[in-house]
Amino acid sequence: MIRVYPRKSAAYFAKCFTNHRNFGNPVFVAAPNIDTIVSLAKRRGFVFPSSEVYGGLGSAWDYGPLGVELCNNVKQSWWRWLVYERDDIDGIDSSIILNRLVWKYSGHEATFNDWLIDCRKCKGRFRADKIVDNKCPSCGASDWTEARPFNTMLQTKLGAVADDDPTALAYLRPETAQGIFINFLNVQTTMRRKLPFGIAQVGKSFRNEVTPGNFILRTREFEQMEMEYFVSPSAEHTKLVDYWVEQYLEWFGSLGIGRDNLYLYEVPKEELAHYSKRTVDIMYKYFPEREKPWEELMGIAWRTDFDLGTHSKNRLDEEGKRINADSTEDLSYFDEPTKQRFYPHVIEPAAGVNRTVLAVLMDAYSETKNDKGETRVILKLSPQLAPIKAAILPLAKNKPEIVGMAKAIKRSLQPLLRAVYDDTGGIGKLYARQDEIGTPFCITVDHQSLEDEAVTVRDRDTWEQERIKVTELAEHLQKRLKPYPIPPPAEPI
Ligand code: ATP
Repeated sequence: MIRVYPRKSAAYFAKCFTNHRNFGNPVFVAAPNIDTIVSLAKRRGFVFPSSEVYGGLGSAWDYGPLGVELCNNVKQSWWRWLVYERDDIDGIDSSIILNRLVWKYSGHEATFNDWLIDCRKCKGRFRADKIVDNKCPSCGASDWTEARPFNTMLQTKLGAVADDDPTALAYLRPETAQGIFINFLNVQTTMRRKLPFGIAQVGKSFRNEVTPGNFILRTREFEQMEMEYFVSPSAEHTKLVDYWVEQYLEWFGSLGIGRDNLYLYEVPKEELAHYSKRTVDIMYKYFPEREKPWEELMGIAWRTDFDLGTHSKNRLDEEGKRINADSTEDLSYFDEPTKQRFYPHVIEPAAGVNRTVLAVLMDAYSETKNDKGETRVILKLSPQLAPIKAAILPLAKNKPEIVGMAKAIKRSLQPLLRAVYDDTGGIGKLYARQDEIGTPFCITVDHQSLEDEAVTVRDRDTWEQERIKVTELAEHLQKRLKPYPIPPPAEPI
């Protein structure tokens, strides 16, 4: 059974963001550009340029102590939302290196190309479809070579073989989806699934991008969250694409991404991938400072029955010939109610972890002024995504009783939520640091705490402080850390 949520209005999203946008008397400035996030990310331990001690490796990034938590929280939110909260989706984790034949029959060996062009003036090499106004991004000239295809699958060799042995050639997967298709029957039979149902997977993918760049937006190694939703050939596929678009808009809303910063792009027929009959891209405003601010955050594609069919031994072409001479399986499905056998169609929402993290950081970034008129950065992350939920700060680090109490509170909270103890500066500095990394609550232990067994809880977004009994602290925080809501499914279609 397929369920749809009612369409959500701007008012719904406004409600979702009331908490994190409601900032007393705000001087609210969203991230003006990606560079602002690059600098915050490096300064505060979210993302570092990779291999920096050797001068870096163009476009590779390492996730630091806070970045890895943020990525994990995004992935966990996605997994909980699709695999745990719904009843029709299972998860898998397939290999990064698959049999080369997978990429032959999926069409990637022949068609996973970008179109390359060279600037005759500065010799720069670029992806043809990313050139704006026919001008070279390096030197501004408009003198180009002919465009030619360049396969972006990253190659490797398996085993101890001679350099030129073609049988050793293998690829690092350019998408996680194929690992799902080749496991379709394994999952369907072991989990006793009937259509419609989905299979979800999170994992690394690799593409030898011609022009990587813009921080973690386009890299050669990245992470995807893909889900293949298998349905009958007679299902309403275009409506299902709309349904998943709507679902993802709501999920992005629950992560704190504003609806105004998202835009839907209906991919024109001539730009569709070889397997797709319809694709809608959800674009994010990664470049608010540019005339063309949008770039793809994720895509939702109707991949038809192409992939299951192409990996099947019994599928025939129009002339009645087998299309796959190598497969030992047939990935068709027997539909009990209609007594028919067919290849299911697939609706695929494919999102990037890194692009989601970048959008989350850009949307959460804000600046305000304190009462001395100094600018303060506040990262208004949705509580479910915040790398640290509570920081326990002793007001006097030379007082053993206060330090002992603060450390004991940290230990008591840790099984329930990610908490840290920090005494590395004055209280003003400690608050500012936690605001900048998005910690929703700072908990201060002071002299009074030793008397009244209570602590001060300071809210990141309002800077308001409350006195809470230590015995009630865990419950108080858990109540306030609830994620922004995703409404329950509505009427089935
Ligand atoms: P683009 O047109 O930007 O190259 P795409 O249409 O090729 O992207 P898909 O094949 O639809 O991308 O992949 C699904 C998702 O995986 C993308 O929407 C994006 O979030 C993520 N993704 C793809 N390529 C990269 C990359 N090089 N770096 C980071 N994330 C990526």
